[in-house]
Amino acid sequence: MSVRVRFAPSPTGYLHIGGARTCLYNFLYAKKMGGKLIVRVEDTDQERSSREFEDSQMNDLRWLGIDWDEGPGKDGEFGPYRQSERTEIYKEYAEKLLEEGKAFYCFCTDEELEGMREKALAENRDPIYDGTWRDFPLEEAREKIAAGERASIRFTAPLKDYSFEDEVRGNVTFPQGMVGDFVIMRSNGMPTFNFCVVVDDLLMKITHVIRGEDHLNNMVRQLMIYEALKAETPKFAHVSLLIGHDRQKLSKRHGATSVSQYREQNYLPQAMNNYLCLLGWSHPEEKDIFSKEEISSIFDLNRFSKSAALYDVEKLKWVNGQHLKNIEMSDITKMLDHLDSDLIKSKFTSQSPEWKNEFTSLFLEKIQILEDYLPYLGDIFNTALELQDDAKEVLNWETTPTIKEVVCAEVSKREEEFISKEQLSSWMDLLKKEHKVKGKNLFMGLRVVLTGVCHGSDLTRLIPLTPLSVIKARLENL
Ligand code: GLU
Repeated sequence: MSVRVRFAPSPTGYLHIGGARTCLYNFLYAKKMGGKLIVRVEDTDQERSSREFEDSQMNDLRWLGIDWDEGPGKDGEFGPYRQSERTEIYKEYAEKLLEEGKAFYCFCTDEELEGMREKALAENRDPIYDGTWRDFPLEEAREKIAAGERASIRFTAPLKDYSFEDEVRGNVTFPQGMVGDFVIMRSNGMPTFNFCVVVDDLLMKITHVIRGEDHLNNMVRQLMIYEALKAETPKFAHVSLLIGHDRQKLSKRHGATSVSQYREQNYLPQAMNNYLCLLGWSHPEEKDIFSKEEISSIFDLNRFSKSAALYDVEKLKWVNGQHLKNIEMSDITKMLDHLDSDLIKSKFTSQSPEWKNEFTSLFLEKIQILEDYLPYLGDIFNTALELQDDAKEVLNWETTPTIKEVVCAEVSKREEEFISKEQLSSWMDLLKKEHKVKGKNLFMGLRVVLTGVCHGSDLTRLIPLTPLSVIKARLENL
């Protein structure tokens, strides 16, 4: 039997990184097994769902390079793939359960249900449905409905333990009595979440359900429905939750949690995939950096971790930096060109391709995300130097005024936009041979005279990137 997995997003917001991780795991497993990934849009909550959110989530998946075989925009033989378009199917299944005596119409009003809840809580019992309408004859219930009364359909919850084998958590048992007769169709005709999930997973021939641990509690209801439909369950893998540094479930309080936010911040999709994959799954060779193509042949379900995964943006940044080092310099310069920044527009975009490549490669070692380039770019064009104590000290060295004089004289002879590496070397030679300035006095002195700081990138690469006009202005201010 070929593997069919699914990602079932609710389009009630932007794609959450937890959702993206779930989808990635499903995608990788489908790839590994030569199976299919189905995207099913769970939009039964009509008030909170929107097509804009659906489109935005699908675009984010495409950006991550996660492609699906069936789902929105990809018709397949098990559609439609939006739950809002499947209402008739759920009705049919609810009808079947009614006929078989496994579900019943419930005419309780909201007030009655609230009263039932309060009574149970007051008596220290779990607030579960008390079975009021469970044994009411179906024919009589149909007559009441025909006469205009409204009813929900409740599933008759069997009183017994349920258990299943989870690929991540092992054996999971739910003791009897945990849930009462639960609603599968609301009185407004809309199906409820657990019912749709089971009917769809069944009809879409899903073989493996890989999803977040927050769905573990739904399992008891879902197992009951599978049993009632006399259907075999798929295999389940409930992957651990993402938590923030305070060990609480990841939420907006912890900063950016949607894929689109990282996309806007110019993170690389390959880095996002890599990092998301590591949150709860480990590479057999303990590798930290890999592409999804690389692991799609080795991804399996037995390397999931049981414990919650710490979402750490600093680690994500590091992973991003590692991936930046693996791509063509010209691609990085292209990305920098498109960075939404005034500094980039005023100082980077108009430079020559050689200048851009040299700038990009000079600072690459120090970069984790593209924005990290900005301070370096700013420094190169900065004429208002604020000298720190260590730089002031270097200016007071006996040899430094000579360096300044020589450099000023050399610079004043030149008109071109940038000075070359060779010219810089010739100034050094001049200082060494004719003025006997050597070693640290020469290197540090020259650096402070030209840049105003004691430390930084290789001077013979940095200075040729600095416009001569900037160097002249700095020397005047010194
Ligand atoms: N629609 C659910 C969610 O967005 C997923 C349901 C499932 O995977 O079973 O959390």
